[in-house]
Amino acid sequence: MPINFIPNDPKASGGPPIRRKTPRAERASSVAGFTYVAHGSAAPHPQGDPQFLFWQSREAALAAVATYEGLDGRKVTRWARSANRRKLDLRPNAGTDLNAYYDGQSLSFFEYTTGSKTTWSGASTDVVAHETGHALLDQVRPDLWDSSYTETNAFHEAFGDCMAILTGFEDSATRLLMRTRLRRQNFLEATAEDLSDGVLRALGASHPAAKPRHARNTFKWALPSSLPSSGPPTVLSSEVHSFARVFTGCFYDTILYIVRDRIGASNTPTSAQLAAAVRTAGKLLLQAAAEAPVTVRFFQSVGRAMVLADQAANNGANRMAIHDAFQRHNIALGSAAMLAPVAALEGTVGRRGALSRSAVQDLRMRLGAASAERMLVEQREIGGLTVVCATHLKQVPLGGLDRRLRGVVAIAPRPVLVRSVDRTVALLGGLPEATTSDDEVKAFVETLLTSDRIAFDRSARSGIKSAARQDVRLRLPTHAVHKVGATRVLRRVRFAC
Ligand SMILES: [Zn+2]
Repeated sequence: MPINFIPNDPKASGGPPIRRKTPRAERASSVAGFTYVAHGSAAPHPQGDPQFLFWQSREAALAAVATYEGLDGRKVTRWARSANRRKLDLRPNAGTDLNAYYDGQSLSFFEYTTGSKTTWSGASTDVVAHETGHALLDQVRPDLWDSSYTETNAFHEAFGDCMAILTGFEDSATRLLMRTRLRRQNFLEATAEDLSDGVLRALGASHPAAKPRHARNTFKWALPSSLPSSGPPTVLSSEVHSFARVFTGCFYDTILYIVRDRIGASNTPTSAQLAAAVRTAGKLLLQAAAEAPVTVRFFQSVGRAMVLADQAANNGANRMAIHDAFQRHNIALGSAAMLAPVAALEGTVGRRGALSRSAVQDLRMRLGAASAERMLVEQREIGGLTVVCATHLKQVPLGGLDRRLRGVVAIAPRPVLVRSVDRTVALLGGLPEATTSDDEVKAFVETLLTSDRIAFDRSARSGIKSAARQDVRLRLPTHAVHKVGATRVLRRVRFAC
């Protein structure tokens, strides 16, 4: 039996309408999939019916995974941190809230009623694809989960929005509509229209999430610490969903400029040309997201990795498009600098990227790593080149920010790239600046404090259930303090919305 399916968002203006379709086949048990709540059989259930919500959210989550796999070329075989690595719980309606989250175990969606209107976040393909995007990024980059930089966390949000856009573009009815709307704001580059309308009704127009996020935007990158920590939807702030729009803008404009370079700036692409341009950009994004070192300037790091991936895969055919797109949002890439040898280190690089003891010692000294701080060393590919990524996990004390954080540290990853060049160990691209990572971590944690995202008591960690806690709508904690050995560390518990 066919189901009713909303291909974009219940409130997408000018988007494809709700339609009947055959539900997607279930994923094979040998790959990563979902655990479902009890549900009835597939049928064209009406909007607002719990059965509709189930089939809608299932369809959207499977579409997002299929989009990712189609671009990546590989099946997703395990999730990053769920108890059963093959399964994530898909919870179409986990209670009353204006929210949605990925917490490593589940994709959870909510309902919320203001006056006569109920918002179901799981009814939006945008929102479901966004949360699925968090899970997909997490399985390929689990190291980003605990990173305490604004840009790595904002990138996680941007990746969710990019997955919503890429998932939309895979839909042929959507693509036909998009041919003529690509260059102006439209239903596809706007995400979560219905949920933001719910926020507008419940919390007012000045709430940061009271308008949809747009990927077609003119936001310019600025140091996160120079931005306000919160603001209305029109203002760029250092809050991660707000700041994410800079990267989403770079990605959407990359698609636009690839189309420009292939068919001209004012011609209308065919559906096939549009699909090809989107797939080119999507593949580069996925590869770059997997390869980019976790630097404080992670937007630039991913942009550079996109250029290097394009060089390896397409002979640099899209280099100009990527450069122009990032430049439009005030991010200069200078990709060649990332892998340029700048200094010779002690020691040697062995098989599979093993660094000799003296090479590690030399790096620890140059990075000022304390003896208790760990160095992670792994071999990886960046733009087709095999390099060694050595990451100093610096512990940044947070006690100066808030008394509740006394004795608590956040982990600041400080990656350096090295490779063997003519039998010497060459440092590539330079060392991270000495105090920047501390400043970045503190700015990020200050934003978490301002927006009340740290759970300081246990009850708040498990989520919002009781009516008494409803005043914290959209303030679901994303972080909590955990004991790791003898150290108290600020760690992530979920990505909310
Ligand atoms: Zn999110």
